[in-house]
Amino acid sequence: MNHVVVVGAGLAGVRSVEALRARGFAGTITLMGEEAHRPYDRPPLSKSVLLGETDSTVVDSDLDALEVDFRPGVAAKGLRPGVVETTEGEVAYDGLVIATGARPVRLRGDGEQHVLRTIDDALALRERLVAGVRVAVIGAGWIGAEVATAAHRAGCEVTVVEAADLPLSQALGAVGGHTARWYEQAGVELRLGVQVASVDHDGLTLADGSRVRADVVVTGVGVRPAVEWLAGSGVELDNGVVTDEHLRTSLPGVVAVGDCAAWWSRRYDRRLRVEHWDTALGAPEVAVAALMGGDAVYDPVPYFWSEQFGHMVQYAGHHDDGNDGERLVLRGDPEGGSRWGACWVRGDGRLAAVLAVNRPRDLLQGRRLIEGGQRLDAVRLADPAVALRDC
Ligand code: FAD
Repeated sequence: MNHVVVVGAGLAGVRSVEALRARGFAGTITLMGEEAHRPYDRPPLSKSVLLGETDSTVVDSDLDALEVDFRPGVAAKGLRPGVVETTEGEVAYDGLVIATGARPVRLRGDGEQHVLRTIDDALALRERLVAGVRVAVIGAGWIGAEVATAAHRAGCEVTVVEAADLPLSQALGAVGGHTARWYEQAGVELRLGVQVASVDHDGLTLADGSRVRADVVVTGVGVRPAVEWLAGSGVELDNGVVTDEHLRTSLPGVVAVGDCAAWWSRRYDRRLRVEHWDTALGAPEVAVAALMGGDAVYDPVPYFWSEQFGHMVQYAGHHDDGNDGERLVLRGDPEGGSRWGACWVRGDGRLAAVLAVNRPRDLLQGRRLIEGGQRLDAVRLADPAVALRDC
């Protein structure tokens, strides 16, 4: 293998380059990304960047020392075995890493619609978040909650509309409902069970015909894997790039990592596609090992965090909300206290997932318990005074 091409210059892309060099790959590496920027971190975009605390989140990685042929502003348009077709001609490869991440979903309507995926998105939105401006945020998921936090701090008048009956319901099920009071306490209007029909010049039209007036609209309703360029390439696609447990795709010499990869999880016995920073950080090491002939397995306990309305929210694992005899155990009082959590416990007594609100130690210990697979005592789990590792 003389030439590895990495498509997508986000965190997963640059980590792939680092992992190749760390494993002693001495050949040529080309890293191409459609954005004009050096690789940067996205989590701060909806936090410190929107809050005006920083303008740059560039990843601390020395591309010169890595001797990588970095091509910003170059997009892959197509793939056939051994060749990536790009906006600047064809590039031949011996090994290929697909790291093209995901793109935000936009809604119907011809009004201006901000999304938040890139540093350019974040800086453009920040400009608009000034005191007194009416901001409508569509979606009370992770991004919607963080945007609402920043807009509220900037002195905007914020309305969040959410199609589901609870905030964060897709990720946390019923537990997400306990975050509704954070909106109320902040003075942010949260409208649940509301469908948006279109984004217009002066706000939103809802499915029942009513209007939400707004000067700024932010759509935070999720993302889709950025894999359109792989159509017809022979790389199997199904909610992202389908890979095995080694992150190999259906095309020889091609691996996939990060938000775009749907890998086979041994731990959960299913395919997972996880849009989390920690996955983009950790998967490249395994994918690159596979590219270089190794057979390491990618089998993490997924981990995610969010900072919203002054709360640190952390989640590890994967739960099924009621399936397989899974039970929900609350730790602490979500409606009264500021430090609480939740554990999803499988029928066999093992921990499937943990949520920690302002309880970082629970997250750390819970993640280890999930990895270790010990059986837990549900009664002790429900007592927030008992450390998770002692349950
Ligand atoms: P990306 O970061 O999306 O990078 C992919 C790159 O590929 C992009 O630069 C894209 O332009 C480029 N690309 C796409 N198509 C092509 C093509 N055809 N040719 C060339 N280049 C292409 N995770 C957490 O765990 N905690 C958080 O608090 C958190 N906050 C977040 C806040 C925001 C605003 C966002 C957007 C994400 C957040 N995430 C968070 C998720 C985390 O940032 C992502 O999981 C991570 O960025 C995924 O990295 P990636 O390299 O796989 O994809």
